[in-house]
Amino acid sequence: MITPSKDSWTVSDSAALYGINNWGEGNFSVSSSGEVTVTLPFPTGQVAIPLTDIVQGARDRDYALPLLLRIENLLDARITLINETFRQVILATKYNGSYKGVFPIKVNQQCAVIEEISRFGADYGHGLEAGSKAELLLCLANLNDNGLLICNGYKDRDYIDLGLWATKLGHRCFFVIESPTELPLIIERSQQLNIRPLLGLRIKVSAKVSGLWTETSGDRSSFGLSTAQLIATIDQLRDEKMIDCLQLLHCHLGSQIPDIGEIQAGVREASRFYADLAAEGVPLQYLDLGGGLAVDYIGNQSEHSQSRNYSLDNYCHCLVTTIKETLAPQKIDHPTIITESGRFTVAHTSILLFNILDVMRHEPISLPENCQQEIHPLVAEQYQLYEQISDLEAVDAYTRAITRRDKIRDLFRNGTIRLRERSLAENLFLAIANRVSEKLDRLDETPLSLTGLKQSLADIYYGNFSVFQSLPDTWAIGQIFPVMPIHRLNECPERNASISDLTCDCDGKLDHFILSAGESRTLPLHTFNTTEDYILGVFLMGAYQETLGDLHNLFGDTNVISVRINGDASFDVIKEQSGDTISEVLGMLEYNPTSFFADFRDTIEAAVKQGQINVNERQQILAHFADRLNDQTYFNNSGRTQ
Ligand SMILES: *Cc1c(COP(=O)(O)O)cnc(C)c1O
Repeated sequence: MITPSKDSWTVSDSAALYGINNWGEGNFSVSSSGEVTVTLPFPTGQVAIPLTDIVQGARDRDYALPLLLRIENLLDARITLINETFRQVILATKYNGSYKGVFPIKVNQQCAVIEEISRFGADYGHGLEAGSKAELLLCLANLNDNGLLICNGYKDRDYIDLGLWATKLGHRCFFVIESPTELPLIIERSQQLNIRPLLGLRIKVSAKVSGLWTETSGDRSSFGLSTAQLIATIDQLRDEKMIDCLQLLHCHLGSQIPDIGEIQAGVREASRFYADLAAEGVPLQYLDLGGGLAVDYIGNQSEHSQSRNYSLDNYCHCLVTTIKETLAPQKIDHPTIITESGRFTVAHTSILLFNILDVMRHEPISLPENCQQEIHPLVAEQYQLYEQISDLEAVDAYTRAITRRDKIRDLFRNGTIRLRERSLAENLFLAIANRVSEKLDRLDETPLSLTGLKQSLADIYYGNFSVFQSLPDTWAIGQIFPVMPIHRLNECPERNASISDLTCDCDGKLDHFILSAGESRTLPLHTFNTTEDYILGVFLMGAYQETLGDLHNLFGDTNVISVRINGDASFDVIKEQSGDTISEVLGMLEYNPTSFFADFRDTIEAAVKQGQINVNERQQILAHFADRLNDQTYFNNSGRTQ
């Protein structure tokens, strides 16, 4: 690829660089004026709204960055897409059953998300899946009329009673039995309450999947019944005259399965279980294939763990035809297919937006015009190397510079070289390293020994956010989300950077990025100046991040707004939620803000007594302290000197 020069840079070059058309799936694009837009189809035509307009709209309502932005339309579009694609594939393949989606609550439990899924999903009878008692309560309050309710997870007596009451209320609420010990309690409670339960069995398929969640399936998975347990459970249900309750078979291969071949193998195995159980008279009607439908975070349609080598259409075809073909020899009626697609449904709806606060460059701060006489000979030699560098081969120059830099550091440690000499030497080293790096840009291939050089010279851009609160999976499991500036895309990004967050933790960083050229440890960014906002967006982060996030360094929830975009290119703010205040975060750690304030007052009053401060200062300090308790936890840009 020929890199366009700085002057001829266009917005298409930015779009190509950041790969937005690969992972954006048409929902996100770059406008002719250089902003990232949310792009949506309407009957009246396409509407594209710059994210910067939404950021401004949030600011006008007093919601500063960092901001978690949810676009409701994108959530709705996903529900439509999965239901309509299954419907079309079912029609085209003459499959005799239907499709029912359920949303697994654990993937995003936020009120605004669940309410919208239930409201918008009502047309399709899109249901909900619970994995705990708390999630089940949430489902009961939000489920639409035709949605299925799937109860997974460990079930105690109270969980079971809730589900039984739901059945009595007319919901199709399935208890999915995950372990043999659950059944006796379900039988007992259903007899006591005189409510006939709907039951499912979770099977363990032996087909293994690749990706980051391989432990979910296979013999050693902690979920589901082994084949022997399955048969014993069925016999027990027959003895109890409850086999008519058993209508569903469940399996969940794992999340984010990149390879369609592996999905097919799992579905085939699950269908074989279904076929043989149906053939022996179990009145099964539903086959629930769990989650696993992947999101193409890196946008290259590959078997990479953060991509997928199939489209939604391929996925639906794979499920429908594999079930159909596997059941054919025994002439089993086609089941209603259920999927619990979580990641696929919500990933696109959320974007984390944060501003850059500062930049650290790995460049010399100053260099002298010529070398002073009285300088240590080694530092003088480094200076000569710096002057001759253009005549030297890159590898040679760099190895010599490093050897000398390390010797100079040794001499500093043992007292031979003075601090100011060392400072000059460090500046010289950085100057040499940057020149070598420029030389590399002109070579066809980077010599092996210099592959890490570019990364080691990259800038650090400090972002106003916390990885641990907002993007925990990037830290915990090496998840990669697309990250890019949301404006200035008509300018050439001239810097290479990694991103550091506000926490005092060296893990609080983003240093794996997706560019259309491939994965990269650095991200091209625009030159930052403190007088102008520079805003980055992290995309496709709507699944799993919000509740997994934690309070590291006491950074709490960010501001959140949900917007709905209209066909006339306006947008409505549907829901808004202020980020945690410092006092709220302290409250989560069992501090009582009132007594907290009283303790501080005692300290301050003692200082007055000892004459360290006067009463007037006391009042100012107390007022400042009280005000800060009500502030949010992130960097407050409003007081910045510009
Ligand atoms: C986590 C989970 C899901 C969601 O998986 P995705 O890959 O996010 O779609 C579905 N079903 C069960 C049982 C789960 O544990």
